[in-house]
Amino acid sequence: MVQRSEVNPETWAVMAGRGAESAGAPLNVPLVSASNFQLGSERSYSRDDATPTWEAFEELLGGLEGGEAVAFASGMGAAAAVFDLLPVGAKVVLGDDCYQAVSGLAAAGAERGRWRVERVRIEDTARWIESAADADLVWLESPSNPLLRVADLAAICAAPRSADALVVIDSTFATPLVQRPLELGADLVMHSATKYLGGHSDLLLGAVVSSAPERAHQLRERRTLAGATPGVLEAFLAVRGMRTLPLRLQRATASATDLAERLAQHSAVEVVRYPGFGAVVSFDVQGGAAPADAVCDSVRIIRHATCLGGVESTMERRAGIPGQTHLPPGLLRLSVGCEHPDDLWRDLQQALAP
Ligand code: PLP
Repeated sequence: MVQRSEVNPETWAVMAGRGAESAGAPLNVPLVSASNFQLGSERSYSRDDATPTWEAFEELLGGLEGGEAVAFASGMGAAAAVFDLLPVGAKVVLGDDCYQAVSGLAAAGAERGRWRVERVRIEDTARWIESAADADLVWLESPSNPLLRVADLAAICAAPRSADALVVIDSTFATPLVQRPLELGADLVMHSATKYLGGHSDLLLGAVVSSAPERAHQLRERRTLAGATPGVLEAFLAVRGMRTLPLRLQRATASATDLAERLAQHSAVEVVRYPGFGAVVSFDVQGGAAPADAVCDSVRIIRHATCLGGVESTMERRAGIPGQTHLPPGLLRLSVGCEHPDDLWRDLQQALAP
């Protein structure tokens, strides 16, 4: 068996999670659709013992991140399992810009007295380090959704903290090809595999990757007890999607860089927010909500849709989502896909035209 350390991530993405190399064995992990297994081995029931198909996804992702991956039914299933590790009365430190359901999860627990939440500005590294000192959970999304702010991950992941504290990076927007927080000292990396990892807008899946096997064991235990298990088809599709993740991301990032530059020159665009990597570009349309909504209604190739990270480009006005009042009203979040960048630019130009 070739080890992860012997090959580049692009090669690992193609070769990992294929199962045993024996004559006549399929090259792709089978879609093992079984809850029940013949007794007498380590695997008896899938909620307790996983299925080979989930394990293929975990092997692939774990290798890319440099840790042990545990798959969940969705990104939020993964996030909830991490929050569930916290003791009652815990201190949670959360970025001021993050995916709204993660904010909602943190707020709901705080309302019930399970933990207290402190919000920190993504770029305020000194505050993160200070707050981490007595935190139980530091949860940071970088680049953040949807303002695409970038944190000093190296400094925050290395911040002194208590032995039981968890520093968790939601790396959904970056993918392990752009950043590997475990190498910087994070305890856990979380992914909504629904986005870039799957890459085709056809599945819901999540994962947490741990630098410590004991923590992965705890998370697997949470999955067994709470039951947020992945679907077999979803894990199979995610493995297939991840085979081309490096190629998709390379193409989409080049197009995003190009479009960000062109958008910055457009008279109908007020601000472009692009961190210089990844394939999401947020930009504010002059005039606020109504003109931005008109752009969403006018695009013909880009799809007006909420999810991102697929081969197809998508766009949404994020302040239109209930509760997102802190966002600029005209902010559009564009997830750049794999279409030709000139076609995407022509589509944006015609949609932005007065
Ligand atoms: N984290 C980020 C950054 C996201 O964008 C999302 C979903 O949009 C999630 C977490 C939640 O993932 P899921 O929708 O797979 O539950």
